[in-house]
Amino acid sequence: MILDLGPVLRGECKHLPVDYQLTLPPMEGVEFVEDLHVTGAVDDQGGYRTLSLQADVPYVAACARCLAPVRGMLKIDFRRAIAPESSMTQEQLEENFDEYVVTENGKLDVDRALSEEVLLSVPYRVLCSPDCRGLCPRCGKRLDSGLCHCPTEAEIDPRLAVLAQLLEDDPDEETPAT
Ligand SMILES: [Zn+2]
Ligand SMILES: [Zn+2]
Repeated sequence: MILDLGPVLRGECKHLPVDYQLTLPPMEGVEFVEDLHVTGAVDDQGGYRTLSLQADVPYVAACARCLAPVRGMLKIDFRRAIAPESSMTQEQLEENFDEYVVTENGKLDVDRALSEEVLLSVPYRVLCSPDCRGLCPRCGKRLDSGLCHCPTEAEIDPRLAVLAQLLEDDPDEETPAT
């Protein structure tokens, strides 16, 4: 949503409520299962203008170890001072991106501000459980759902392990077809 701040900038209005549904753009590694209900307001206190937005963001991400889907909830509480576009240099804005949002022709791109906030807040790495055992490196089975029948490292005959290592190390060695 693009918020028109005209009434606030002209001093006709001190409180502009925000209440809408936002569909987040897709982000790498995270799926957003439903639209966000965004609430908040633009407030003007003697010329000091702020934007505050709140939203609960349910998401699904893959466990970093076993790739199982993990559901999570991100609570967004976004508060920024509103700066007119002419008041700050690009450099100042980049340094203070977590304090200010900037108007463009008297308007605020709320969707962009919120999407950036979600992108910065979404956990980079999620686990289905703190002690997730991940996937079997041999067959790819998810170990938390039951052990597979692959031999563990300790069970492999050390002489065979050496041989396997040699075969892996030599790129010219063709593995005989079985
Ligand atoms: Zn896992
Ligand atoms: Zn296995």
